[in-house]
Amino acid sequence: MSEYRIKGETGEWEVVIGLEVHAQVVSNAKLFSGAATAFGAEPNTQVSLVDAAMPGMLPVPNKECIRQAVRTGLALDAVINRWSRFDRKNYFYADLPQGYQISQLYHPLVGPGEVEILLDDKDENSVKQIGIERIHVEQDAGKLMHDQHPTMSYVDLNRSGVALMEIVSRPDMRSPAEAGAYLRKLRSILRYVGSCDGNMEEGSMRADVNVSVRKPGDEFGTRTETKNVNSVRFVMAVIEHEARRQIELIEEGGKVAQETRLYDPDKNATRSLRSKEDAHDYRYFPDPDLLPLELTEDFIADCKASLPELPDDKRKRYEGVGVTPYNASVLTAEVETARWFDALLEAGAEPKQGANWVVAELFGALNRRSETLATTGISPQEAAELLKLVADGTLSGTLGKQVFEIMLETGDAPSKIVEERGLKQTSDTGAIDAEIDKILAANADKVAEYKSGKVQLFGFFVGQVMKAMAGKANPGVVNERLRAKLD
Ligand code: ADP
Ligand code: MG
Repeated sequence: MSEYRIKGETGEWEVVIGLEVHAQVVSNAKLFSGAATAFGAEPNTQVSLVDAAMPGMLPVPNKECIRQAVRTGLALDAVINRWSRFDRKNYFYADLPQGYQISQLYHPLVGPGEVEILLDDKDENSVKQIGIERIHVEQDAGKLMHDQHPTMSYVDLNRSGVALMEIVSRPDMRSPAEAGAYLRKLRSILRYVGSCDGNMEEGSMRADVNVSVRKPGDEFGTRTETKNVNSVRFVMAVIEHEARRQIELIEEGGKVAQETRLYDPDKNATRSLRSKEDAHDYRYFPDPDLLPLELTEDFIADCKASLPELPDDKRKRYEGVGVTPYNASVLTAEVETARWFDALLEAGAEPKQGANWVVAELFGALNRRSETLATTGISPQEAAELLKLVADGTLSGTLGKQVFEIMLETGDAPSKIVEERGLKQTSDTGAIDAEIDKILAANADKVAEYKSGKVQLFGFFVGQVMKAMAGKANPGVVNERLRAKLD
């Protein structure tokens, strides 16, 4: 892929991007309380005294949240810090009853790691490593609701205290496409691990987008940070828009201010929210209510043992058994797809053909029908059965497609469909010969033409026989018997 550059008045500019991804931890309870975390509950029904910051309440770390963050770190090949600590980040806002957020500034749970992205999903050599600086664990805030009352804002504390992982990348991305690939890959890994559902629409994964521009070869420029962007498409739009805004500003003689901005998807524009705070503005200090976290080697080993096969390993395994690089990357991008394909292989499907069929036939049909693997009635076992019927010649390619259509419609198993509708391909030479004799007798003129040299008529005879036998004759046998009779 060629380098991404933006043309300005004064020449070409390079864009520098770093993402801070907030990922809500999958856990039944909050980071420091036993309150539930289910999405979509009635406002303020999942709030413990700790989450409401009642005086005298003490936070108690939830081991499951820590476990999930460590598993995530391991999946990103990151350093797991045996010793970490929680800090208070002080700021005042109506959705933050404590007046501070418990976070980790000085000693995060997870240190440097990396995410491998493919710049071109048809080329397994187009890899780039995006550095991860750190992952820290912190509390989420509550949510203000401005549309419930004409003159008042309400606050819902259900989200208050829910565990977040903040996954901070290095400023290693250089184009909107790279940032999109990074986010999709990160989301894919989180879903494989099961530590975050990656659902950006529901806000369980959101990104702060840091963007700066420079002339190639220069030092990094001043960055702006656009907060809480909640889709891959919007992240890419923010980068494009923000880079152009900065370039224009610099070329007009202005200076980029280090500030926090907000994205408005309706206008596809960012606007300034506030000048960016520095760490000292938050008066960080170690939270006196919490002991440092000390992880045992056993705990880390258990986290490691609980990890599933991750997308890159899976992709390489599929390629190793003959699946094309493109199909392997499509099949491993989402964990549901990969699990489905694994079940198909387990049911005995041949990997290369199975992959071709899933990516071309099955995905094509699901798209047409606005369905997904989760909603379709076709199980991997039934799909494997269908592929086997085609592979062993019981069904011709055409009949295979017919049976597949009926499976989509009825949800029936292929063997049942073949049985009930008599769709089996026949290689019975007696029946085929009988049809051939009838066709040749009824087309004596064409037979004469064929014999006098018009050999292209052969296809016509094959077609007639296939039609007479409702497509169920084995085309190989038909060809062979016709040749025997005509030549
Ligand atoms: P803060 O909490 O102040 O936002 P962090 O260290 O948590 O600081 O995050 C900084 C983010 O900004 C990281 O993702 C980093 O990669 C990115 N970043 C740092 N410098 C630049 C730059 N010059 N241009 C673009 N992104 C940058
Ligand atoms: Mg930040």
